[in-house]
Amino acid sequence: MTAELESEMDHIAQGKTTKKDVVGHSRELLAEQLAELLPHSDEVKDALSDAVAADAYVGKCPKCGKDLQLRVSQKTRSMFIGCSGWPDCDVTYPLPKGKIEAIDEPCPICGMPQIKVTPFRSKPHTQCIDPLCESNKEPDIIVGECPTCAQKGIKAHLVAHKNPRTLKRFIRCENYDECGTGYPLPQYGKLSATGEVCEHCGAPIVVVTTNRGPWRLCPNFDCPAKADAKAKKGKGRTGRGSSSRKKTKKSSTKKSSTKKTTKKSSTN
Ligand SMILES: [Zn+2]
Ligand SMILES: [Zn+2]
Ligand SMILES: [Zn+2]
Ligand SMILES: [Zn+2]
Repeated sequence: MTAELESEMDHIAQGKTTKKDVVGHSRELLAEQLAELLPHSDEVKDALSDAVAADAYVGKCPKCGKDLQLRVSQKTRSMFIGCSGWPDCDVTYPLPKGKIEAIDEPCPICGMPQIKVTPFRSKPHTQCIDPLCESNKEPDIIVGECPTCAQKGIKAHLVAHKNPRTLKRFIRCENYDECGTGYPLPQYGKLSATGEVCEHCGAPIVVVTTNRGPWRLCPNFDCPAKADAKAKKGKGRTGRGSSSRKKTKKSSTKKSSTKKTTKKSSTN
């Protein structure tokens, strides 16, 4: 158990798990061990489980009236909100990344529970757990013209959109089925279009404003300017940005210069 806890402490330090998760998990582990150690200790286990449930409580399920709780997905290890009435009730809500805390105050717009979200290295904010609530809706924004379609002489808008189910944001060509041009966007911050185009790759430049200030960015993961910056940092991070995979553009500049001939010139 100690080893498990230690690795979880590391996860907290790395921002992978919240302290609350681990405390909850530790209690579960403790409850299990106590149940083994003490005879007739079901009461102890129940009491501890209740304490864990109290920590995880978010609000009432709108479908069945049972408790909505913070849960960790066994498959993805990411957190979500689930109903304690499961498997009879299948109500779930996605959670954004970051530290999640339940708060008492319901959403002023729809009355659903709200949560306090603290994204990594950012200030906390409060949001309604229902992605379909007006307070969470983001209008689609036209951020520019599609460079891939433009090459073929077609005029098509690039549209920024937030998926209400996954809470993920991305830019896609309105002609996406045919041209496949799309770029991922940061999950947080108010998005605005600039009308400008990245000089390196032709993607639209957008501004994402968080409480750390405005951030001007080219959303293209495969942007040559970024490849250069990464190479300089020595962080050869590849294999990300799967949503921009389908692009028809050739990315021939990828790994041509990395192979230096390793012949040993043994001159001395
Ligand atoms: Zn329910
Ligand atoms: Zn709401
Ligand atoms: Zn296009
Ligand atoms: Zn770019």
